Amino acid sequence: MNLVLFGPPGVGKGTQGEKIASEKGMVHLAMGDILRAAVRDGTDAGIKAKGFMDAGKLVPDDVVVAMIEDKIVAGVGSGFLLDGFPRNVPQAEALAAMLNKHGLKIDRTIFMDAPEDNLLKRLCGRLICRACGFGFHRQYSPPLKSGCCDRCDGELYQREDDREDVIANRLHVYRDQTAPLLDYYQHQEGFCKLDAGGEMDVVYAALKKLV
Ligand code: AMP
Repeated sequence: MNLVLFGPPGVGKGTQGEKIASEKGMVHLAMGDILRAAVRDGTDAGIKAKGFMDAGKLVPDDVVVAMIEDKIVAGVGSGFLLDGFPRNVPQAEALAAMLNKHGLKIDRTIFMDAPEDNLLKRLCGRLICRACGFGFHRQYSPPLKSGCCDRCDGELYQREDDREDVIANRLHVYRDQTAPLLDYYQHQEGFCKLDAGGEMDVVYAALKKLV
């Protein structure tokens, strides 16, 4: 099965996507994680992407499309879950053309949504483990020991783009560029909506039903 999860920043695409992908044995392709790894490794794509990411803007389409195609092709066979790609209509069109070229298709496109004050609270309190990437939240799921990952004892940090000023810009970019994907996908086969405003376990149970 091949899935696309899309929705605003902070809605839980990463957390829920990772969980469902590992349960179903799918490859989880999180565009943000792929880009952050490229920045960390200092690749050409990472160097191009960094300034856009720090400002909360979208990285140019040609950069992200080239990066994701390699990963999709590498993951053929086990099924994939796309999280954070596509993020605008031209990327969705590029994805459709790419899948067509490789004889693949999307089985479900899931639009996750939650009220904006909810998204803000989730993003502002988010903490990530530098070593294993596991996510915590200062208020909703705090680590047992402050600043340390429960899983691997790695150092927890706040993403540069989870600062309040950058979050405001990311939400603006979402409304302006990503929200039109709803019109693009909602009449296509396999489209569904998921109310992601509730507790993590409740949202996950609803997601499982859709998948
Ligand atoms: P995320 O981890 O999904 O919140 O993404 C973090 C940042 O990576 C975004 O704010 C963008 O700067 C960049 N990014 C992630 N996915 C895409 C995409 N599909 N197109 C362009 N930029 C992206």
